[in-house]
Amino acid sequence: MNAYDATRMADVLAPEGYDETTDIAQADLVVLNTCHIRERAAEKVFSELGKVRELKEERAKNGQEMKIAVAGCVAQAEGAEIIRRQKAVDLVVGPQSYHRLPEMLRTLEAGARIETDFPIEDKFDHLAPPKPEKVASRGISSFLTIQEGCDKFCTFCVVPYTRGAETSRPISKIMDEARHLVASGVRELTLLGQNVNAFHGLDENGHSVSLAALTARLAEIPGLLRLRYMTSHPNDMQDDLIEAHASQPALMPFLHLPVQSGSDRILQAMNRKHTAQQYVDLIARVRSVRPDIALSSDFIVGFPDETEEDFQATLNLIKNINFGSSYFFKYSIRPGTPGAEMEHQIPEDVKSERLRRLQELADGMRYAYNETAVGQVMPVLFEKKGRYPGQIAGKTPYLQAVQVDGPDSIIGCIADVLITETRTNSLMGSLVGEIP
Ligand code: SF4
Repeated sequence: MNAYDATRMADVLAPEGYDETTDIAQADLVVLNTCHIRERAAEKVFSELGKVRELKEERAKNGQEMKIAVAGCVAQAEGAEIIRRQKAVDLVVGPQSYHRLPEMLRTLEAGARIETDFPIEDKFDHLAPPKPEKVASRGISSFLTIQEGCDKFCTFCVVPYTRGAETSRPISKIMDEARHLVASGVRELTLLGQNVNAFHGLDENGHSVSLAALTARLAEIPGLLRLRYMTSHPNDMQDDLIEAHASQPALMPFLHLPVQSGSDRILQAMNRKHTAQQYVDLIARVRSVRPDIALSSDFIVGFPDETEEDFQATLNLIKNINFGSSYFFKYSIRPGTPGAEMEHQIPEDVKSERLRRLQELADGMRYAYNETAVGQVMPVLFEKKGRYPGQIAGKTPYLQAVQVDGPDSIIGCIADVLITETRTNSLMGSLVGEIP
């Protein structure tokens, strides 16, 4: 979502005369869009700010200005503390207020500004749509935020505090944005939300529309080839969404459904409100309608009081489900969350050792999963030039990266690829059949 927000910040600043640069030393304005989900990410902001301050001072010596803005969830959580720790910062803007950036920049002379309210107005109504050529420059695959915030209050997570209460965007606004993106060349949309499958946006008649119903509507946009969504909570995996994976061809057979732990004791302490078995049963239901679906999850290791037995339960769950890919994180204390106050915090060395064991298991499973693709012909949506001249890169329906030798002209198209080889982070293949 930060990637999406960053593009929208660029969009809202474009009418003010700002454009993006790849050379930070040339920037009149530096916006650090930040993540607060883990301690390391938050601390990195302050070390980055130190580097940006040096650039600002360099520019000042040459009579040039550089404004520094801190956006995102660290801005939301730390507010004025950011300016106290780093005086070079001019603006602090939370993730629900970045549509106010132009106005904040215009009135900056009055001193450093902080904007971390959850404003009454909908920020999306105040964001300028990107120019078609800007959309095109960002590639054929685009994010689109449809839902923000979360009411689940998992005990390790800052999202309900930094992103606020769960809200869904109205259907008409989402459809307008999607049509604009597709008309500008986008062929794949990934619908975003902190808890995206809790989506319940209102339609023109004031009726609540589910994520499955939304994907059905989006799939009718001519030119839109593929749809994905992330991130979901198991308890919001409704029947119609499961069914959509069988009945909607545009909805890709890939599901990122975080479970976090395989231990019921830890799941309860995390306030996840489901058991490991309920998760296993849910996956069985999903696979019953879409047997080939690729599954992915997030896991936290070293949550307070996690025993070796709890950790073993997580390993067992991973083996049982056979995820195609997964993401692992050491538990990181987030101030203000219930987890931060819990007793029996796990020592770093134990967390690191568990993380290593999980990673080993997952790497092996990911490799084995990718190996099953070898010899298969898969429809690949080509996104960009590949790593080497003459190569193009795309994704399988299962979100695996694929590299083939082929013409740039098929970027934006789906073509059949015979998968020939598994590499560490991608599959290699060759085009077969008709080239679009
Ligand atoms: S459901 Fe996700 S976003 Fe919401 S509190 Fe739990 S981990 Fe955080």
